[in-house]
Amino acid sequence: AKRQGRNQFQFYSPEINAQLRQRLTLENELHGALERNEMLVYYQPLIDLHSKQIMAMEALVRWQHPTLGLVSPTKFIPIAEANNLIVPIGEWVLRTACAQNRAWQLAGFSPIRISVNLSARQFELPNLVEIISQILQETELEASNLELEVTESFLMADIERSMKTLKQLRELGISLALDDFGTGYSSLNYLKRFPVNMLKIDRSFVQDVMTNPDSAAVTDAIIALAKSLRLNITAEGVETQEQLEYLQMRGCDEGQGFYFSRPVPADIITQMLRQPVVV
Ligand code: C2E
Ligand code: CA
Ligand code: CA
Ligand code: CA
Repeated sequence: AKRQGRNQFQFYSPEINAQLRQRLTLENELHGALERNEMLVYYQPLIDLHSKQIMAMEALVRWQHPTLGLVSPTKFIPIAEANNLIVPIGEWVLRTACAQNRAWQLAGFSPIRISVNLSARQFELPNLVEIISQILQETELEASNLELEVTESFLMADIERSMKTLKQLRELGISLALDDFGTGYSSLNYLKRFPVNMLKIDRSFVQDVMTNPDSAAVTDAIIALAKSLRLNITAEGVETQEQLEYLQMRGCDEGQGFYFSRPVPADIITQMLRQPVVV
């Protein structure tokens, strides 16, 4: 460490320095990435665990960086959130995903839901509901074919306001999913009051459902909870046949994960939709 004036140290750990440099590069170049057409939307199917039909697609954003290649959202979404760039990026993802879902319908495929992640910053926008209904009008997508994924952590930041926004979104006919369920500080009392219709069991539980009795117990409890509240239930991160069979046996409705498909570009999904039953 090199002394930089009073109580200020600059560290020269090569790894930290490289990480920091990359973050600064990403931060600088994220400005204008949308305008340069560097953002892409990938899609991952959600499968009905009984009929094996494709019920929905989750839209997952990617950044095609000119030199770094495909950058994961886990790397750039936190930066975008810190800079409020998530607002235009999130709106672009919504518009792109709704337009793509409408295009699949116009191509003759049976209507499915498109599920889009909302960030806390977007959820705080005073005109969120207007923006979304505008996008639905523009893309001519029915509200019932759109699902928004929210997380408990940001709903809990201002419960009354969240309740109001969720209610307005439900009144439009949009489906609402609680994402990463089980990882937040789930208040069962609010869960009952939030007008959501879907729970998504976090991947971390599904991942070791076969090896860790605690994860299996949490998974079972979440499925039972969803059933008693009459919410649909999706398991994230299904990677093996064993996990699939376990979830089927427990009565989980839908699954999503590498076992069925990784997130892929729209044209690959179009090929999958030609054979809508996934075995
Ligand atoms: P998420 O919403 O929980 O999305 C699911 C993540 O799990 C995706 O990572 C997906 O690729 C990954 N995944 C799905 N199935 C499996 C599996 O079987 N095994 C494993 N190991 N992973 C699986 P991805 O695409 O890297 O996205 C990461 C996170 O970035 C998302 O987590 C979400 O929080 C955020 N994100 C992605 N797109 C958007 C977006 O458009 N807007 C916002 N606000 N956040 C987004
Ligand atoms: Ca999600
Ligand atoms: Ca999730
Ligand atoms: Ca997650």
